[in-house]
Amino acid sequence: MKIDSLEEIIKNEPAYRIKQIRKLIYKDLIEDWNVALVLPLSLRERLSKECPLEIKHKLFKDNNTLKALIEFEDGSKIETVLMEHDQERSTVCVSSQVGCPLKCSFCATGASFKRNLTSFEIIEQVLLFSRELKKKNKKVTNIVFMGMGEPFLNYDNVIESIKMINSPEYFNIGSRKISISTAGIIEGIERFSNEDLQVNLSISLHAPNDLIRSNLMPINKKYSVEKLLKAVDQYIKKTNRKVMFEYLMIKGENDSLESAEELSLLMKRPLVMVNLIVYNPTGKFKPSDNNTIKKFKEYLEKKGIFTTQRYEFGRKINAACGQLAAYDTIN
Ligand code: SAH
Repeated sequence: MKIDSLEEIIKNEPAYRIKQIRKLIYKDLIEDWNVALVLPLSLRERLSKECPLEIKHKLFKDNNTLKALIEFEDGSKIETVLMEHDQERSTVCVSSQVGCPLKCSFCATGASFKRNLTSFEIIEQVLLFSRELKKKNKKVTNIVFMGMGEPFLNYDNVIESIKMINSPEYFNIGSRKISISTAGIIEGIERFSNEDLQVNLSISLHAPNDLIRSNLMPINKKYSVEKLLKAVDQYIKKTNRKVMFEYLMIKGENDSLESAEELSLLMKRPLVMVNLIVYNPTGKFKPSDNNTIKKFKEYLEKKGIFTTQRYEFGRKINAACGQLAAYDTIN
């Protein structure tokens, strides 16, 4: 699909035509220009040739989780995941980069980094699943930027894609239904505080101090826990919005009661909450035992910290958090 060239092709068309075309793509969800009988034949032919609607992909299914491997024009591949919670709620977990440069030790994506995705390549992921859901008379209702890549290292394209996801001409999904997760890129958090968007912010914290965190996430050597929390404080002060701290439970690394205690002290802030994530095996570590997670959670709750545990989707098809690597081939 070459949807980014569309705007160029249609720029001399009258405004109503551009509207019509966007409706065909994002509302009617057509997959072939030949069915767009409202357009003149010559335009249909030109669009078919220069801006095909086919998305090159392969699907993997596990109960209520659908993973798609998408291949772009240059051969770059990414993965994206659809989670169907129920009839009313379906979340797409989008990727923002091909691979990821951050090399977090627990995450399968960090093995390589190729390039940033364009805003159209980001919304193409939402488009693909919108087409799939249409067959069941359902829609994409929520978006999380928790797929491959670090969204704040591709800041402009990510914000542009959010504006399109928001726009009534595209997906019309409200900002409050969108979440961005960052490994803690401070410049990104600062810029994000100044956006006039009601998008939710999550921080991949995963450790209560620099020693453990730098060991798990090399980015911590650049942006320490203290600097990170300062940026989050500023964000909360400016936006008055809640921030979710994601905390991966890795056996023997960050799951002791001392870690829970340290974490509880860091979380003594207004408008913050903790989301405990069971580690999905990617080779290096082991997940914490259920009982350890239960005790960790109880400790935080006893200290008055709002704590939830993430429900994992799609482990069987390597579609869960941290497992996206796009190793498969399409053909
Ligand atoms: N780079 C961003 C966006 C990726 S989000 C970020 O780091 O936040 C992916 C989420 O899944 C992050 O919270 C990430 O830390 C988490 N994750 C990574 N590897 C995981 C694994 N093996 N098991 C469970 N969660 C993992």
